[in-house]
Parts: sequence; C-alpha cells; structure tokens
Amino acid sequence: MKIGVPKEIKNNESRVGMTPAGVFELVKNGHTVYVQSGAGEGSGFFDGDYKSAGAILLDTIGLVYAMSEMIVKVKEPIEEEYDLVQKDQIVFTYFHFASSEPLTKAMIKSESICIAYETVEDEDGALPLLTPMSEVAGRMSIQQGARYLEKPVKGRGVLLGGVPGVQPGKVLVLGAGVVGIQAAKMAAGLGAHVTIMDVNMKRLRYVNDVMPSHVITEFSNEFNIRKHIKTHDLIIGGVLLKGAKAPKLITRDMLKSMRPGTVIVDVAVDQGGCVETTRPTTHEDPVYIIDDVVHYSVANMPGAVPYTSTVALTNVTLPYVLKLANLGWEEATDNDESLQKGLNIIKGEVVYREIIEAFDWEA
Ligand code: NAD
Repeated sequence: MKIGVPKEIKNNESRVGMTPAGVFELVKNGHTVYVQSGAGEGSGFFDGDYKSAGAILLDTIGLVYAMSEMIVKVKEPIEEEYDLVQKDQIVFTYFHFASSEPLTKAMIKSESICIAYETVEDEDGALPLLTPMSEVAGRMSIQQGARYLEKPVKGRGVLLGGVPGVQPGKVLVLGAGVVGIQAAKMAAGLGAHVTIMDVNMKRLRYVNDVMPSHVITEFSNEFNIRKHIKTHDLIIGGVLLKGAKAPKLITRDMLKSMRPGTVIVDVAVDQGGCVETTRPTTHEDPVYIIDDVVHYSVANMPGAVPYTSTVALTNVTLPYVLKLANLGWEEATDNDESLQKGLNIIKGEVVYREIIEAFDWEA
C-alpha cells in the first residue's frame, strides 16, 4: 500500500504521524511510504532519518495526499486540508468529529474512510490510542506544578521534595485513572507527600497495591476534598466521566479556603475541567490567578514535548497502521474489533452513532 505522512499544519502542532522506525517497519512489509519534507522536524526527526529508513520524501502536502492510499497523521484535517483528502483514501488520525460539524461534513463529502484514533477501543473499554497522551499529561502535570509553586511565578515557594529537616510538599491528585496514576508516581518519585482520590474503589485498591507507602488513597467526596485542599500545595485534576463534562469537584467558594500560592493543574480542562474556575490556556500563556490560587490549564499539554508524545503515540498506532496496510481497511477492521470501533465515516456514510447524535441528525 502507498502510505502518506503529511506535515501537521494545525497551529502549534509539532507532532508527526510516523517516526522513521514506523517507516522502516512498513517498508520492510513491502509498502511505500511518502513523507512530506520537514514533517518530523518539530519532533526531532529529520528528512535524512526518514530517507535512511526507506521513505520517499515529497515537497508538498498536496503531493502526499494525491499519491497515497492511506494518510497517517496526528490531528484532524483543518479547513485547508479538506479538499486534499481523496475519494476512497483511508485517513487514520485523531478526528474528534462530535466537536466539529464542518469537519464531519467535509469528510462525508470527501468519500474517504475515516478511522479515528480516539474511538479505537479495547475489549475492556479502554482507549489505547488516547492512553499515551494521558500518560504524558499526567507526568507533565507534576513538572509544571512544581515550577509554578516557585515564588517568582506567584506560587507558595515550596520545593516538592523538601530537603533534610524540612517537610516535603503535599500533592493532591483527583482521579486515579491514567493521568492521576502517572501524576502520583512522578510526585512520589520527587519525594512529595501524595494523596490520591477516586470514586472507583478498584482504582484505589490498585494504587494502594502498587504505590509506595507515602502515597495515600482516599475516597473522593466533597467533604474529603474540602478538607484536603486546605493543606495541599499542588492539586492535580485528572477526573473523567466518559462522554460527559468533568464534574466540578472544586467550586469557586472553595478557593478561599486554600493557602495563597496553591497551584491547581487541571488536566481535565479538555472536558471542561474539574475546577469551577478553570478555563483553557495555552503554552504561550499557561497560568492565571484567582483568589491567590495559581491555575494551570493548558488544553494540549503533550504538545510541549513533541518528541516524547510522537514516539508514545506512534508506538501504539503502528500495529494498527501495519494491519490496515497489510490487509486493507475492510479485512483489517473485520478481523479486529478494536480497530472496527475506530471506523467513523465510510465513503460518505457516518457509521459512528455518537456523531449522528452529537448533531441531532436523523439516523
Ligand atoms: P481515566 O478514565 O483513565 O481516569 C479518570 C478517573 O477519574 C477514573 O478513575 C474515574 O473513576 C475518576 N473519577 C470520576 N469521577 C470522579 C470523582 N468525582 N472524583 C474522583 N475521581 C473521579 O481518564 P484519563 O485518561 O486519566 O484522563 C483524565 C482527563 O485528562 C480527561 O479529561 C482527559 O481528556 C484529560 N487529558 C487532558 C490532556 C491535556 O493536555 N490537558 C491530555 C490528556 C488527557
């Protein structure tokens, strides 16, 4: 199969859909891989690396789309790309159709086969192509939180790990899912005192089993949250209710009970945030302060570490890319239920229920 890897043109997106290691695997399996010149630069992969792995470099994004039977990328096509997508072409990427009707209509019109990373689903309901980005964001939340606890950026002036003779900082993690566990692990590694909360006892039991003893689990309810926010220096929001807005676990009035310079990193911002005062911010301007509480709520945290994010993402997408290339989309999705769940639009027909519901379209 002819596979194309275009450069991402969405604002501030430095990731790329395939690494040279992925190109190498596909070429080894007899496929042709077209990579747009400069596509990997933002992630630290250069044209020479792709060429050595066996890719054919093309100068323009138009050529990549025109010559490929399957496009592998990271973000949904933006308006400039709508007309580049070809009839019968497989497009494998994050789409998030339910949040954009124009994109959905454009892909219907293109008559392509749209397979969305975010809806590929394991037998146990996990989303394997979203997990790596939560892992990145969870680990990063502690790095960013530690930085904003510093006094010159209006934090409490607390070093998370403490030093001999001084108590370490206290980190409260809301949600013991992918983000929460990675955050707790990083904070514990720095030597901070960690409290992690969830409403799911299975998750709390798991955390209790695998984490060191200075990571304390506690059931999540308003009473306990009100108690802990008064004494913790850094609060990480990592809750998720599948397919719904995040519950507001910290309300505006609660900020007053927190000490000045407390930092909240609300990773759940992309689902509205689990703090009432959360609003999305950017890497250029990541924080704002309300009632002396520092809020960090960047909606695309993994974008700041494109090397790690690209490798983490392509590690999990590559097996599916190989399957699609080796078998073609019909056989590949027939044989693999997880991949089948990724099918969103097939040659002009929306096949994913939630998209039809999101726009109140008739089924
Ligand atoms: P997850 O499903 O693995 O974990 C969410 C956890 O929240 C679950 O364990 C669930 O039981 C728990 N939860 C639900 N209600 C709760 C409550 N009232 N109190 C405490 N815990 C509660 O999800 P995840 O992969 O960890 O993702 C968490 C959030 O982070 C999502 O909104 C995701 O989209 C977001 N995210 C943001 C970025 C970013 O750049 N900002 C990057 C990746 C993920």
